[in-house]
Amino acid sequence: MRPVFSELAGQQRVIDTLDREVDKGNPTHAWLFTGPPGSGRTTAARAFAAALQCGQDPAGCGQCKSCLQVLSGAHPDVAFVSTNKVAYQIEDVRQLITRAQERAGAGKWRIIIIEDADRMTERTTNVLLKAIEEPPERTLWFLCAPSPADVLVTIRSRCRAVNLAIPAVHEVAALLVRRDGLTEEQAQFAARVSQSHIGVARMLARDEQARSRRERLVTLPLRLNTLPQAMAAASEIVTLASDHAEATTGASLAERTAALRHANGLGEDETIPPGLRGAFKAIEEDAKRFARRATFDSLDRTLIDLTTFFRDVLTVQLGAHSELINEHRRDEIERYAASQSSEKSLHQIDAINATRRRLAANVTPLLALEALMSTLLQQPGRR
Ligand SMILES: [Zn+2]
Repeated sequence: MRPVFSELAGQQRVIDTLDREVDKGNPTHAWLFTGPPGSGRTTAARAFAAALQCGQDPAGCGQCKSCLQVLSGAHPDVAFVSTNKVAYQIEDVRQLITRAQERAGAGKWRIIIIEDADRMTERTTNVLLKAIEEPPERTLWFLCAPSPADVLVTIRSRCRAVNLAIPAVHEVAALLVRRDGLTEEQAQFAARVSQSHIGVARMLARDEQARSRRERLVTLPLRLNTLPQAMAAASEIVTLASDHAEATTGASLAERTAALRHANGLGEDETIPPGLRGAFKAIEEDAKRFARRATFDSLDRTLIDLTTFFRDVLTVQLGAHSELINEHRRDEIERYAASQSSEKSLHQIDAINATRRRLAANVTPLLALEALMSTLLQQPGRR
């Protein structure tokens, strides 16, 4: 196997496709990499770019200057584009296209990797579409998205599809051992509780705080006995998510505001003249959008973690003898499972999924979480 493909855990079919393309030497010019979060779609796009740019034999050595540059995001002919915003702005995409039209430098190809093609509005997509339809010579577009359905059909139909599967737990664990030097036990635990999300698994394995946050969350249902407890839990979850988002956004807003003041020769406390208010307002709006997005992502991950508890409860109730996602909590999960019906567990899982959809549809997080937590309350007197 080409060394650059060794990070693609559990994706043999994808590797075969990309291998043939690298051998052929004349790749299709537009690709759509899809796969659930954490399956490694961006990693696959990046590895493919490295293999195409590499001058060694076999290509994709992972060791030469070109490979290292692509893998670290520093190759002058490979651009990584992602957005912190809810959606790409049309200007962002115009800039991209201008970049695509510049001649490739030392590299064999000019490659543009759009990491979240699902965050493009229809108008923005149309601008991109023309560039993809009539690509400048030696320019390749790699688009990444969770699923083909997240990308407008006009784009999808012009791209060659690469669909990444959810890797098996043992495949993710093997990668963590091989690449991150984790012990077999750490790797197994992280791969299992993250449900094969490679990025989350690595974070959990490395970050003690992240692990304890997750433990607290997964055991939350055990502590939900009264309505006040449910309301407190909802508010705690929302506060954690928005604190996390604010910590990242606040710093960048302050930095950007200071830079704009500096560029316009304004002192720290000087009043912003009317002519510049629009520019400052735009930065603020942008930061707000980003904070909303970050809060949403964090809440969604929280709800995915919470679901694992109820899936385990259901597994026990249905008498399946398979390993639990939270195997290390088996005793508590079994006790909980004995205290309620499997219908109730199913209902709870449905309620969590419905909440994820409501949050995606912009319902106020606290309201959505309060409603959910009261549904998750154990029935009084059953325990
Ligand atoms: Zn190389």
